Amino acid sequence: MQSKVDAPCPQCAEDGSLTMLANSSEIPYFGEHTQITVLCASCGWKHTDFIPSDGERPGFSSLVVNDGEKSMARVVRSSSCTIRIPELDLEVSPGGSSSGYVTNVEGVFTRFENAIETIIRGEDGVEAESAKQILERLQMARVGGFILTIELLDPRGRSQIIHSEATSRELGDDEKEVLESGPEIPVFDLN
Ligand SMILES: [Zn+2]
Repeated sequence: MQSKVDAPCPQCAEDGSLTMLANSSEIPYFGEHTQITVLCASCGWKHTDFIPSDGERPGFSSLVVNDGEKSMARVVRSSSCTIRIPELDLEVSPGGSSSGYVTNVEGVFTRFENAIETIIRGEDGVEAESAKQILERLQMARVGGFILTIELLDPRGRSQIIHSEATSRELGDDEKEVLESGPEIPVFDLN
């Protein structure tokens, strides 16, 4: 399904330049969901998100990554999801232009690594040293050489780690209060 969006582009404010593509499919163990992509013909802005068809998932999903097999676990991350790795004190919040994606645990590690590498470029001394240590641990964690936990916190309940040993629960009100919920894009109100 492709349709014009009756709203200005959140990036360049151009009217009538947004197109929305909606595509329903099945992710094993996540279920039927709709993938939505909004594109701006004017500035190239692109936004992707995933909406489970059969209602919200619990807001908190986590997995202890202690072997290489768990690095392959699927991760569905919507635009409203915060990802944490508590052992390394790492967190990525949605922010204003966050986009959803489907990846695996290893892909999440890679995204953290890319972000850290960008930050340490041009740094030296203590900051660079501790960043290098974090990068090493992320590398080791891929094969279970350093045990890490991945936590997804999604106040809209659209994210999940798909693995038989993943645990999930509802978010507390105190947790929801401090979480960012990502960009507000009116076209996502499909109901
Ligand atoms: Zn635009």
